[in-house]
Amino acid sequence: DAIRVGDMAHQMGVKAPEIIRVLMGLGVLATINQSLDIETAGVVATEFGYEVEKVGFSEETFLIPSETDKPEDMKPRPPVVTIMGHVDHGKTSLLDAIRSSDVTAGEAGGITQHIGAYHVQTARGEVVFLDTPGHEAFTAMRARGAKVTDIVVLVVAADDGVMEQTREAINHSKAAGVPLVVAVNKMDKEGANPDRVKRELSELGMMPEEWGGETIYAYVSAKQRQGLDELLEMILLQAEVLELKANPDKPARGHIVEAKLDKGRGSLGTLLISEGTLRQGDAFVCGLQWGKVRAMFNDQGKKIKKAGPAMPVEVQGFDGLPEAGDEFVCVADEKVARRIADERQMKQRERELAKESKVTLESFLKSKPDQDVKTLNLVVKTDVQGSLEAIADALAKASTEKVKINIIHSGAGAITESDILLASASEAIIIGFNVRPNAKVKDVADQQHVEIRFYDIIYKLVGEIRDAMAGMLAPVI
Ligand code: GDP
Repeated sequence: DAIRVGDMAHQMGVKAPEIIRVLMGLGVLATINQSLDIETAGVVATEFGYEVEKVGFSEETFLIPSETDKPEDMKPRPPVVTIMGHVDHGKTSLLDAIRSSDVTAGEAGGITQHIGAYHVQTARGEVVFLDTPGHEAFTAMRARGAKVTDIVVLVVAADDGVMEQTREAINHSKAAGVPLVVAVNKMDKEGANPDRVKRELSELGMMPEEWGGETIYAYVSAKQRQGLDELLEMILLQAEVLELKANPDKPARGHIVEAKLDKGRGSLGTLLISEGTLRQGDAFVCGLQWGKVRAMFNDQGKKIKKAGPAMPVEVQGFDGLPEAGDEFVCVADEKVARRIADERQMKQRERELAKESKVTLESFLKSKPDQDVKTLNLVVKTDVQGSLEAIADALAKASTEKVKINIIHSGAGAITESDILLASASEAIIIGFNVRPNAKVKDVADQQHVEIRFYDIIYKLVGEIRDAMAGMLAPVI
């Protein structure tokens, strides 16, 4: 709860400088636009013979609820795709190849701009690609609450097969519940062995359709631009199953996929609209920022007046730089937008001061007393593969009917930033067995409020987890 000095002056019928003078007496330097917390406002009010009545501020009253969609309002929208895979397997090459193969780009005379996402038109429909490949960016967005990707394209080089980051990408997509389409790349290379890729992925539960499984595969060469149409077709096939729809006839909401500070144009954010239509002049809040759409541009660099669901647009008119993953919501006017952003900044400061872990082994299930079956999500990292298997076995046996242990990702090797982000996005705890994070990774864990627990003896690890599970069980009455 906060009130601006200016608003307070108005409400009490005094001049703002009088309030600022009182604040100075209290050792607080404030401007007319500054927000005061309820306590400070209370002290100031008493000076003028007023009392502050605390009225709950709920931004929800200002935001337009999304439950109001009628089935007939829902219109099909294009799928949003993120490309993932091991380093050097061709993610960037594939993104570039698809982008330049889009015929409409050339026809429209536009020059492709890197704004964070782009869309391609095919005979079967449109597809939107996010420009930042890899599971780190994907999970970082998810850790901030943004689910923008509908489909993951997993790139696996036909001459290299499944590698460490391939497995990571699979686990990150699974944890997010996002379906995968496999693109076996580098089919032009001499050592290409797609059967080996299919076998290795089948072992990870991704059996191809042609072998009786359910995973869609496409075979491509990003370098020679072969198989791209088929890949796009497979993506749209997968999208049909998902029945992606959105209501375009309402104020826009969406998420920031990229943001940058431009010398001439100020703070720019690329927005992927999830529902509604964004128009020039709309007022909005976005994370801790607010603004008004002064101008917007599509992925061809063309100035546009409006944009609908799943369309990437670069928006000009933020009061400050937003962050990738921030939710963007249109509101009635700039005053409302600013009020909500002020409130959020206050709350953010309070949260930073509180610095609590999102989930801890000791407390996590107390926070969900209404769930009958509880799930303890873990990311397990070990020094060697052998201990990983032993730990996974022991933990599998520790699962009970009431508490399930779910290892969302595991591997031999150091605890990485991407492990932290995955844990943060999935409300998981990290178990380090004979491994420790470096200082930078530790910082990220602190920032994301992720608990990391260290062990060097397996029975101690399992023992503590069992204890925590027993403690978390709802008491019998
Ligand atoms: P990323 O790290 O996954 O983004 O991989 P890049 O797109 O940077 O590609 C890594 C290397 O593989 C580059 O040297 C590319 O030229 C090469 N490459 C990518 N796709 C293909 C392909 O289809 N065939 C061949 N022969 N080389 C490829």
